[in-house]
Amino acid sequence: MPAPLPKCPRCDQEWVRAYRFKDDGAAFSLCAECDSLWWQQEALEIAAARFLDDVVAERLGDCNPWSTRVWADVIEPVNECR
Ligand SMILES: [Zn+2]
Repeated sequence: MPAPLPKCPRCDQEWVRAYRFKDDGAAFSLCAECDSLWWQQEALEIAAARFLDDVVAERLGDCNPWSTRVWADVIEPVNECR
């Protein structure tokens, strides 16, 4: 049995799931409800949480990354069942 997904500590509404950036495969955990992001090696704590928008804007050098993109252009979920 796989380990149960952790609940998001920030919003307590959604499970934190594994994602990666499509360009370089950098792995992170994301809550799709409140857009909290944690890098793979970080503890899932509110104090360590980043926002997906901030991380994407920084990576792409675009302060408004979603004006011309959608999530699927930039990130993809990691299929845990594969
Ligand atoms: Zn959340």
